Amino acid sequence: MKKIIVAGAGIGGIAVSALLAKDGYDVTVYTDRMPADCAYDWEDSFNITAVAQFTGDVLTPGQKGFLCNNRYFGPSQKTPVETDFGDNPPQKAERSLLAHLLTAYALKCGVQFVPDTKIKAAATENNRVTGIVTADGSRFAADLVIDACGVDSPVRKSLPDACRIEQKYAYGEVFYAYRGIYEKVCETPPDPHAYELYLMHQGEPGISWFITEEKGNDILLGRFLPFGQEKVDAEWKNFKATHPQLGEKLLRGGTFAKIPVRRPLAKMVCDGYAAIGDSAYMTYPMSGSGIDLCVRAAKMLHECILADKDGAFTTETLWSYHYNYISKYASLAGTDVLKNTLLNLQPDKLDLLFDKRIVTASDLTSGGANVSTADMIGKVLRGIFHLPTLLKTAKAALGGGNVEKLYKQIPETYTEAAYDAWKKKIDKKIVPLKR
Ligand SMILES: Cc1cc2nc3c(=O)[nH]c(=O)nc-3n(C[C@H](O)[C@H](O)[C@H](O)COP(=O)(O)OP(=O)(O)OC[C@H]3O[C@@H](n4cnc5c(N)ncnc54)[C@H](O)[C@@H]3O)c2cc1C
Repeated sequence: MKKIIVAGAGIGGIAVSALLAKDGYDVTVYTDRMPADCAYDWEDSFNITAVAQFTGDVLTPGQKGFLCNNRYFGPSQKTPVETDFGDNPPQKAERSLLAHLLTAYALKCGVQFVPDTKIKAAATENNRVTGIVTADGSRFAADLVIDACGVDSPVRKSLPDACRIEQKYAYGEVFYAYRGIYEKVCETPPDPHAYELYLMHQGEPGISWFITEEKGNDILLGRFLPFGQEKVDAEWKNFKATHPQLGEKLLRGGTFAKIPVRRPLAKMVCDGYAAIGDSAYMTYPMSGSGIDLCVRAAKMLHECILADKDGAFTTETLWSYHYNYISKYASLAGTDVLKNTLLNLQPDKLDLLFDKRIVTASDLTSGGANVSTADMIGKVLRGIFHLPTLLKTAKAALGGGNVEKLYKQIPETYTEAAYDAWKKKIDKKIVPLKR
């Protein structure tokens, strides 16, 4: 029987492990912490209904909530834009519920979990991944390693260069984030747009949010450089000046973490290896949301593994997983270009986009989920008739569209030459964050 190791209990990893174990594969998840022990202590926006369908659970009424409408602020905060989700607001649910549903389902399907295991690197032989090496020097062999170790995966970072998989990310591709939910010290009038999103908050590249909830105030800071408690305290004071309801006592969270906000890996498979979730940068670059994408990718990887009847698990046989993911979510590469283009603008230019309602908040609210790059380009192009100074932005937006098209041209069958030629073309179109 083919032996599959899932490195790290990331969401996509647990999801695919369950599907594979159900089909009779020998699947073991090695992880430092069990998902339920390290689930973030807050609610996140993701499709909990789809997760419950996946695990065969029935949700109780209190387990599913909905996001409230947004109010977006540009750097000057002068002309906020309000958007409504209408009849279809995104769902939200507790992270601990997600961890519980997926882990219970994986155990039921026969997945073995080995917790308290720190993975150090991939074990490799002749450029094939043959297992994992742990911090205490133990080696565990597998026919296939599924890397679900998150954005800083030691498995991905230790792959031989011959695997042609990017090991590191660049500046601007990962958010350093903080999230905390603070007590509410006074009542606030009802606000249908209580989810406030600040772009380039305090003039810094990145975002912040402030959500006034019934029982607390939810603060998130996302920046491109690491920061610590001192910065959190300073931003708390900034928010307090405009939000008297903000109390000092931290009720939940208070956690620092990293979020990938870039295009997915241009190659996420090699002999004996497939990456999933944050280790493959499977998030929406505008918002950093990755849970729904992980679950969908798990189904794609499962299908690909089933189709590999001999269990060869080579780049060639795993390619259909990569091909299907990249061609389906090619727009994420376009969104990555647009995101960096917008963030490379001087704050006053970004304010113009807000003031003139060129980039409407609904584009940004969906985090690139529902808006095609073409829609965004249309908006920016319309904008240049009003704002000739934004010509540069329009050109870059067109670049986003080109990247999307190029991503869709990914070779359907893997050969080194075809991949290298495609990669060369897409690399030319990447817009790095410069600010
Ligand atoms: C503040 C914040 C808010 C977010 N909000 C949302 C949201 O609202 N909606 C949404 O869809 N997404 C959100 N995300 C993103 C989402 O959390 C991820 O995209 C998603 O969880 C996929 O990540 P992952 O499971 O692949 O990786 P991770 O969550 O990083 O999981 C990696 C796993 O591997 C284990 N591991 C790591 N290193 C090792 C090692 N060396 N040895 C052994 N085990 C290891 C970890 O313990 C963990 O179990 C948010 C992220 C953050 C940080």
